[in-house]
Amino acid sequence: MDWRYLDLRKPENLLIFKVQTTAEAAMREFWLQNNFMEIHTPKILGAPSESGAELFTLDYFEGKAYLAQSPQFYKQMAIAAGFERVFEIGPVFRADPSFTSRHMTEFTGVDMEFGWIESHEDVMCMQERWLAYVYQRVKDAHGEEIKERLGVDIVVPTVPFPRLTMAKAQEILREVGYIVPADKKGDIDPGGERVLGQYVKEHFNHDFVFVTDWPIAVRPFYHMRHPDNPGLTRSFDLLACGLEITTGAQREHRLDVLKAQALEKGLHFEPIQFYLDFFRFGCPPHGGFGLGLSRLLMVMLGLQNIREAVFLFRGPNRLTP
Ligand code: ATP
Repeated sequence: MDWRYLDLRKPENLLIFKVQTTAEAAMREFWLQNNFMEIHTPKILGAPSESGAELFTLDYFEGKAYLAQSPQFYKQMAIAAGFERVFEIGPVFRADPSFTSRHMTEFTGVDMEFGWIESHEDVMCMQERWLAYVYQRVKDAHGEEIKERLGVDIVVPTVPFPRLTMAKAQEILREVGYIVPADKKGDIDPGGERVLGQYVKEHFNHDFVFVTDWPIAVRPFYHMRHPDNPGLTRSFDLLACGLEITTGAQREHRLDVLKAQALEKGLHFEPIQFYLDFFRFGCPPHGGFGLGLSRLLMVMLGLQNIREAVFLFRGPNRLTP
């Protein structure tokens, strides 16, 4: 990584960024064809954009500010403001001290949000069509070179992608004898994701799977809950080849319910009052997702480490070049 400017001269590395360019262009193309608007939300914030965890704090004149951990609140503001369908491709900052092959402290987030949905199913339908479009574009433009230089055959995923409820996913893991660490509280650890990925490949012959209906304990306060099962959220993760690349959900747009859910999670209203206010004068039912651009490139191109899929890596021990 110290010699990244030489490393990137290798044709196989250059190719990764040609693919990234095509993929991003295809993402925008699809969204523009579907009446989405591109937005750019602030990255310097007065309050955390997700939870207080993984937050970078910076000096801001006489006070403190935070780097955005996600554009979540502002995508939703756009919906409340009547934009109806929005997307953003921009930087996301996470003070995550872990050293893994899939985490960075700064990464490019690909986010979308749209209104007038019935449930998280609408978000998944939109995402799978969008991803299939992106894969097709990449295959058309670079399929042969990818095969030749990286030995990977780009397979355009068939739609619909398989879906498994979280309960079913846990059942599958139990059946195959995989033990999810106890501290996961209804979540799945990376090892479990890999096992599920293999299961889906064997049983559905598919690289992608939506894991849906996550328990409220492992989801943020703004995820909408199932009316007939309030212990579960209308949310999903998308796994690709056993790696999480997306979290999505229908959001709670009813202010009274949203406030009750925030209280239940032990949040104080004051720091999120500006966000709660977005819903005061009406907001259509809406949902969306966030995807890590480099994680998508990793799975698409069969790269082992996210460091290969990003122009310059940022991690706990890496701030140069
Ligand atoms: P993980 O469980 O892998 O830490 P997360 O649940 O924190 O991810 P989300 O907050 O749902 O992730 O973010 C949405 C998407 O952004 C993820 O699915 C992933 O593709 C990407 N992402 C999240 N954190 C990172 C990171 N530190 N580095 C690179 N990409 C990330």
